[in-house]
Amino acid sequence: MPTDPEPPTLVWHRTDLRLADNAAVTGAAVGARGGAVGVVVLPADPAAPFVLAPAHSSPAVARAAARGAPPGVPRSSPRRVGHLLQAVDGLRDQWRAAGSELFVLRGDPVDCVPALAAELGARAVHTAPCPAFDELRENAGVARALAAHGAVLNVHDEDTMIAAADLPFDIAELPEVFSNFRRIVERGGRVRAPLAVPTIREARAVVRALASERSAATLAAPDLAEARAAAATHHPRSSFASDGSRAAGLARIEQWFWKDDRITHYKETRDGLVGADFSSRLSPWLSLGTVSPREVAAQIRRYESERTANDGTYWLFFELLWRDYFHFWVRRWKGRAFTASGVLGRTPCGAPDREAFVAWCEGTTGEPFVDAGMRELRATGWIPNRARQNVASWLARTAGIDWRWGAAWFESQLIDFDVGPNWGNWQYVAGVGNDPRNRVFDVRGQAERYDREGTYRARWAGG
Ligand code: FAD
Repeated sequence: MPTDPEPPTLVWHRTDLRLADNAAVTGAAVGARGGAVGVVVLPADPAAPFVLAPAHSSPAVARAAARGAPPGVPRSSPRRVGHLLQAVDGLRDQWRAAGSELFVLRGDPVDCVPALAAELGARAVHTAPCPAFDELRENAGVARALAAHGAVLNVHDEDTMIAAADLPFDIAELPEVFSNFRRIVERGGRVRAPLAVPTIREARAVVRALASERSAATLAAPDLAEARAAAATHHPRSSFASDGSRAAGLARIEQWFWKDDRITHYKETRDGLVGADFSSRLSPWLSLGTVSPREVAAQIRRYESERTANDGTYWLFFELLWRDYFHFWVRRWKGRAFTASGVLGRTPCGAPDREAFVAWCEGTTGEPFVDAGMRELRATGWIPNRARQNVASWLARTAGIDWRWGAAWFESQLIDFDVGPNWGNWQYVAGVGNDPRNRVFDVRGQAERYDREGTYRARWAGG
């Protein structure tokens, strides 16, 4: 590919699958005389077995991790991959509407992104990841490989509602307890207004044609077709049909906030188990970044000024602070976010009981509230927060199974998998993380309280 006249600038998307309110896109658009193009790298083999160690660990660590790996857990379920593809399709439409294109590649980003940049002659790549352990490794690898071609990686650190740069403390000093974090940021943090979609100079026709052709070839893979079909299948017992595209996320906001005013009652309904509207259900969009947390915060502010400000509107903001907390938490604790003894360094109770673990995954433990949650998860890729807390507590505290196996299964199945919120909540529930109260859930008592009529148990575990 000739590099003359001006080469394009690349935007490497990760969990920021949108053009609006995207600092990487804005950064790439400014002064990119050769236009900007997007790139997404899909995993080469989403069905590869889950391993409890980063890919770059030493051979000894990798061998130990393979021995302790959770049985039968693929890296990503077909439904989760299909959900990602829906988000990617929507992103491609956005790039096209802006006069450019999206490359969809498969493999290791450390190989794919620098190779594409070299082929196009790009001198700059912009990205905005959630910088957890693997992402930091990828950033370092990509930056090194780009430098060999005289190109640079620009990392825009803005995947939270409150930008890392606006925190009134250094991430290394992140409070150990959420309420202390909340108090500090409510006093001293600011939520910036979302960024508009920038004007993107059109990429050259030859680059757009190449992107279109490569992406079509990638997306035609048989396992991805299977994943698409899985994501499009709606389980008859489910009250909610999920779609990963940004358009569907914005429609959800329109419905839940503005048409049905559900946010007004959110504080009272958020522990619900059955139905589509007891909580916002925005997590699948927030986790892939098809909708940004700042965009949701802006909707809350607008709702408060145009309709009402009450406990419901505050509580949604409060939950978004939990999301921020766990995003900063995973950066603060790096590898320890994924170790059995957790950030507290406690001896975990977990044992590698394969049989009990498989029963938990399949929803056949014999404990109806747990089985209901686990069957819903398997069938839909999503479960309510109250169910998550109970199934997690049961695995780690009642059955005494290694909590990381549970976290791995959630990672594999959840269409809203988000590294900090998942591993952070798991540590919290397992008693090795940041819960000052170190609670163990009485699952039967919880079922009586939150599923008084047994509707949830009947729906998912009732035969
Ligand atoms: P709402 O109640 O409407 O809340 C709005 C948003 O706030 C959510 O979309 C989410 O972004 C954020 N939020 C709410 N609760 C939490 C929380 N406890 N921690 C962090 N953020 C929160 N959430 C994920 O997004 N991805 C995960 O992988 C994930 N794994 C979890 C694992 C366990 C063991 C537990 C107990 C919780 C986990 N959560 C995770 C948090 C929470 O259960 C979900 O965010 C929530 O159920 C999503 O539904 P919603 O969008 O309707 O949430």
